[in-house]
Formats: sequence, structure tokens, C-alpha cells
Amino acid sequence: MRILTHPDAILKAKAEPVQNIDEEIRNLVDNMCETMYSAMGIGLAANQVGELKKILVYDVTQTKAGPNPVVIINPEIVLTDGDVVQEEACLSVIDFSADVARKEKIKVRGVDKDGNPVDIEAEGLLARCLQHEIDHLNGVLFIDRISTLKRTLYNKKLKKMMKRADSAKDK
Ligand SMILES: [Zn+2]
Repeated sequence: MRILTHPDAILKAKAEPVQNIDEEIRNLVDNMCETMYSAMGIGLAANQVGELKKILVYDVTQTKAGPNPVVIINPEIVLTDGDVVQEEACLSVIDFSADVARKEKIKVRGVDKDGNPVDIEAEGLLARCLQHEIDHLNGVLFIDRISTLKRTLYNKKLKKMMKRADSAKDK
């Protein structure tokens, strides 16, 4: 699947809760995992592939034991604790990273691919990844959480890059 990039409007839209985990949803989940791995990401939200459904996948294991994808459908943050600032980037935000403030520890509730309830307590990289992906499902990008000045500068740079890409295409 193609990963949409900012300023695509779908990235600004809110995803709808999944009512029924059917064949279509399971296929979507499989495709999202594949897309995440081929883009070498550690997380992916359904908005990023153009589906406004509350689904996220992640794999923050950096072992060589092979892929270990986790799926959360209809995720919700139910508890938070502490604050931490760290650098973040996104598959949907080309050529940019910035420091973002997040909660240090969180608890996320949702269901898995089989509809079973899951409760995930996270800190460190996983906590950051989950907050980033849940933001996506709410139509929020990490660049919405940085200063207006930084965001404006990035948007200007992006416009230039896109213009250059366009004129290269015309030739
Ligand atoms: Zn992202």
C-alpha cells in the first residue's frame, strides 16, 4: 500500500471506530503490517494508507528474532504518567524530525485482530510510538505538536521540495 504524506487531507481526518472485525479488516491489518515493514517503520496507523479506521500496527522489537507485529483496533489511552521530550519522525512527514513532548508512561486499551480485549502498559519507545499512532487516528501529526515557527519553516521547505519534484516530472 502507498503511504500518504503531509499535506494529504486524509492525514488530518479522524478515523472511525471499527464495529466488525471481518475479512476486510483482517486483510487491511495484514497489508498495513507489510507496508510498515517495507517502509522500515516501527508503527503505522490506518489513516496513513488512506483508510479512516481506528487501527494501528507496531513492532518496536529490535531483535533479530524476526518480525513481531502487534495490532490494536480501537485503541484508547486510559492512563498517563510523566512527561518526556524526544526526537520524532514519521513515514508521512518527508525529510523532517523534531523534539516532541509526550507522556512518559501510558496504558492503552483496545482489541486485537480476533476481537479480544488488550491492555498494554508502555514506556520508552513503545509509549512514544503508541501516542504517535493514536494521534494519527485522531487526525494529528507530530508536526502539529511543535512550535508554529518550526512548522511554518518545514512547510515552506516542503513546498519547495514538491515544486522541484513537479518541475522535474514536467521535463
Ligand atoms: Zn507517523
